[in-house]
Amino acid sequence: MNEILYDKNVKCPICNNSFSSKKVRVSACVVDRRDEDFCIHYKDFNPVYYEIFVCPHCGYAASENSFDNLSLVELNRIKEMLSGKIVGRSFCDERGINDAIDSFKLALFIADTRGAKKSMIAGICLKIAWLYRELKDEKEMVFLKYALDNYGIAYDKEEMPLGNLDEISVQYLLGELSRRIGKLNDAVFWFNKAVNNPLRVNNPRIEKMTREQWTAVKQMSKKD
Ligand SMILES: [Zn+2]
Repeated sequence: MNEILYDKNVKCPICNNSFSSKKVRVSACVVDRRDEDFCIHYKDFNPVYYEIFVCPHCGYAASENSFDNLSLVELNRIKEMLSGKIVGRSFCDERGINDAIDSFKLALFIADTRGAKKSMIAGICLKIAWLYRELKDEKEMVFLKYALDNYGIAYDKEEMPLGNLDEISVQYLLGELSRRIGKLNDAVFWFNKAVNNPLRVNNPRIEKMTREQWTAVKQMSKKD
């Protein structure tokens, strides 16, 4: 196990204490297959389990990318919210899937507290949905819907790209999430937008996926 996981030392921006969090070595992350909503299934070790750093001293939780990236307003909101709270659990050791889900739920709670962008909230919800998918738990659908709702608001209000998703990828993802939760008319609306987006020339993979999933929607509509 030691060759696969390693410790990363982290300093908490909220309480200034240091702690270590496990990470999976890149060489151990072997892709098994990919789902149409960008979920990656790994053969043995899923790096998503360790994506969220959780401070064992104060309970602050966020992804590695956004952990230190706080405005003064956000910092104060989180400090106030966590003040006096008791942290009864550590996420610093090896994590099982339920630890991973709980770490993302903490990150979701913190993101909401800090007033994070809807695209960030959507990304966290999507990862929680993927973890529930691994468990074959129907709560996946609840979090896919949260992801869809928040990406929808982000699409209207935020500047593109949303993280690493360019405009056509967001349109495609809105279509695919709609399809998965059974909103077939909405899925057609978004796939139509993606397939007519001039950015498709730069993104042939997304164009191909859009056409395939559009066909999947048509087949689902026929069954209904
Ligand atoms: Zn802390």
